[in-house]
Amino acid sequence: MEKITYLDNAATTKPFAEVSQIYKECFDKFYNPSAVYSLGVLVRKKIDIARKNICKYLHGELGKLIFTASATEADNLALSCFKPRANNSIAVFVGEHPAVFNKAKALETAGAKVIYLPMKQDGSVDEIAKHMDSATSFVSIMHVSNETGAINNIAQIVKDIKKINPKAIVHADGVQAFGKIPVNLRELGVDMYTISAHKIYGPKGVGALWVKNGININPIIYGGGQENNLRSGTENVAGILSLEYCAQKVTSDLANNYNVVKSYRESFIEELKNNNVTFEVNGNGSPYILNLTFEDLRGEVLLHSLEKHGIYISTGSACSSKKPDNRTLKGMSKTDKQIQGTVRISFSPYDDINITEITKIMSAEIKDLQSKIKGK
Ligand code: PLP
Repeated sequence: MEKITYLDNAATTKPFAEVSQIYKECFDKFYNPSAVYSLGVLVRKKIDIARKNICKYLHGELGKLIFTASATEADNLALSCFKPRANNSIAVFVGEHPAVFNKAKALETAGAKVIYLPMKQDGSVDEIAKHMDSATSFVSIMHVSNETGAINNIAQIVKDIKKINPKAIVHADGVQAFGKIPVNLRELGVDMYTISAHKIYGPKGVGALWVKNGININPIIYGGGQENNLRSGTENVAGILSLEYCAQKVTSDLANNYNVVKSYRESFIEELKNNNVTFEVNGNGSPYILNLTFEDLRGEVLLHSLEKHGIYISTGSACSSKKPDNRTLKGMSKTDKQIQGTVRISFSPYDDINITEITKIMSAEIKDLQSKIKGK
């Protein structure tokens, strides 16, 4: 079988082996957690323990967790709390994942005033105070960019927002942060926080929204009243218990994992330089993501030429890969040509990868493609 070097971990991650075991156990004990007989009650207890434990891993004991069918749904649920009025506004970071950005666009279409918070050259959000005012009652800013890995200083941002409007609700999309960089919701001071299982070696189709006690939210899905009436639908028990397992593992491995991917990222840059490849690194933040721009090169062509060697990278987030218009890179003042020449490499600390070998192949492909373009 062809050897696969998977370097697209910001798109999704390989589930831990233990996740299959959790699914097997849940299929054996398949009972409905809403059932009142003991078999159902036992399943309900497991969900409640998972909820409590994940809150603990987030240092979010002062809030509750609502399980959803994706982080996209959790982001939509969060932004649905904003109720457009004549004189209020919602502010979202221009570099947000489509789960937030397109929900904000939908709110705008429905008549809301939306402020798009611009980006600094390094991919993080510009100073909030310059753009919002006391009528801004909801702000959503991602913790770590899925495109560049740029980290927003959420704790400081929350302080700045609350100085302008102490009642403003602040939501952060933590999908690329939780389990990768330290996340302490008490210290961050946010009112809501989104996580996703499949970015931390869990299954797809499981997300959660953490909501601070005292913040009122309204459901976007109605039905039998599960999740405290906030997200109806029979719970995805296996998915939730897998999320609990993965959250426990990545938070306990956090420091070691961070060092592993940091060394992968640093060696990658170093070795490309040693191979005389010129490039620009976009957004220096999370070591899990390396976003690179090459001159005289089309990222998509490089992606396919590496695929032939069993190396899998991306030209951007999986959700936007079909659309050349990259909001994040545009926000960083990249030209269309630079955007075309950009690729994203994202690491997993649980994979043993040979950076020297990968960068050697990559450098040869880059030089070959560049010489073909220059020769045209
Ligand atoms: N937010 C960010 C920052 C992401 O990277 C992603 C996934 O790419 C999502 C939200 C959506 O997550 P999900 O696939 O669980 O809907």
